[in-house]
Amino acid sequence: MGIHWFRRDLRLVGNPALEKHLKIREGRVLGVFCFDKKFLSRPDFSAPRFYFFLRTLEHLRKEMRDAGGDLLFLDTGPEESFRKLFAQMENEKWGRPVSISWNRDYEPYARTRDARMHEIFEREFELTTRTERDHLLIEPTELTKDEKGGTYQVYTPFSRKWLKLFQTPEIENRMDAVSRGLKSGVPEFHAKWPKTFTGEDILANYLEKTADQLTPKFIEHLPETGHEAAVALLKDFEKHHADAYDVARDIPSVPGTSKMSIYLKHGAISVPQIICLLKLTPDSKHLKYFKELIWREFYYHILYHHPRVETEAFLLKYESLEWENSRKNFKLWCEGKTGYPIVDAGMRQLNETGWMHNRVRMIVASFLTKDLLIDYRWGEKYFMEKLLDGDLAPNNGGWQWAASTGCDPQPYFRIFNPVSQSEKFDPRGEYIQKWVPELRGKFTHEPINPIVVHSVQRDKCLAMFKRARAN
Ligand SMILES: Cc1cc2nc3c(=O)[nH]c(=O)nc-3n(C[C@H](O)[C@H](O)[C@H](O)COP(=O)(O)OP(=O)(O)OC[C@H]3O[C@@H](n4cnc5c(N)ncnc54)[C@H](O)[C@@H]3O)c2cc1C
Repeated sequence: MGIHWFRRDLRLVGNPALEKHLKIREGRVLGVFCFDKKFLSRPDFSAPRFYFFLRTLEHLRKEMRDAGGDLLFLDTGPEESFRKLFAQMENEKWGRPVSISWNRDYEPYARTRDARMHEIFEREFELTTRTERDHLLIEPTELTKDEKGGTYQVYTPFSRKWLKLFQTPEIENRMDAVSRGLKSGVPEFHAKWPKTFTGEDILANYLEKTADQLTPKFIEHLPETGHEAAVALLKDFEKHHADAYDVARDIPSVPGTSKMSIYLKHGAISVPQIICLLKLTPDSKHLKYFKELIWREFYYHILYHHPRVETEAFLLKYESLEWENSRKNFKLWCEGKTGYPIVDAGMRQLNETGWMHNRVRMIVASFLTKDLLIDYRWGEKYFMEKLLDGDLAPNNGGWQWAASTGCDPQPYFRIFNPVSQSEKFDPRGEYIQKWVPELRGKFTHEPINPIVVHSVQRDKCLAMFKRARAN
């Protein structure tokens, strides 16, 4: 008997560690998901994202049961939960499992947890552990600048090397396996938890408690969960939007992007699966889209090799930036009440739906850091609290890019003018009017009762950066 420990790989189709494990155990693999209170009490915890995650788990359990398998929920953190589970299995003469599998995670917290659990499983319980790559096509340890293991800090050479590796036989084989996994669909399971092992209430309780923190309207408009929903959305993107992506991806009023980030975050689909389904190659017409997926891999590599970016500016000289950090202005930014129509539209879209268009994410992040002179970490945390796709590596990367503190960032002296950004990317004000109802029929790109004056703040920002650079 084997156990697959689900974490953020919430799908059955083409799940690498699960697939291999099922083959070895001839279908006798049971699923476990373990809630972790330490994770749930993180300051960037998000009720909307957690709710979407719970619904995805609910979907996964149904799919597993339909395929002859089962998913058990545990609730006391992995260490205590697995100890109790194995003790119960032995007490009930069910016997200890012989192997446990999971897909690797690259966030600092998860890496520490997994190293500890690996030790416990192997040393204390003598289980064989099997781990696989899933979230990234090319893992951080596989792509280095040179033979000494140097790492890239600039996206363009990173993406060049990434695309070169993509065409090697090793990765081609990997992609063939992904293609086979997609074709073979949901695998068969030949094991169920006995009735005495129940975690039924755990999921239901979390769902109920989390739903209480959300509005019925928010819940009603949540995207569909699960792998099939992700694939259907991707197919729709391929049919209707992919050809125009290079231009439409910057226009927030049109549905020009794939919305895959929400599914990638929870592992309902993986980057290799998207590459396979869209037949992306370095010569394909969808190269721009392909390169966005490589940005995601880039930020994961940066976080893996420089875990300090979770709390510190990548460019350490900018740790001394003298942010103004006005609480009053931060609150107005969060509420979408800055007086700058495009900024307010973006923040209101985020608050109402848990999503914001990429171009607008760049505009509001630039506005918070370079117009309001507020520490990017405040905005990064607020995004994590609200975004359904909130994901440490790309969120930190996006914020540090906009604030000019990151690796390969926007140069510090490039400061978005919110009015010209609005004129360029929402010329007819369709996006603004959708999210700022008081401007319907009388929209403008110009600020109305703005909380700060862009030209004044721009000069202050340049001076703030120059002081930090001179230190
Ligand atoms: C300040 C800021 C914060 C961000 N926070 C997050 C976050 O928490 N989670 C997250 O997934 N993305 C984040 N991004 C990146 C980007 O905005 C989203 O990935 C994108 O908007 C998701 O929409 P989509 O799936 O329709 O993208 P598409 O345009 O369809 O792109 C396809 C996929 O490529 C990847 N991708 C696209 N753009 C980027 C990018 N700039 N950086 C890294 N990967 C990218 C995503 O995985 C995305 O799903 C952030 C960007 C900024 C500027």
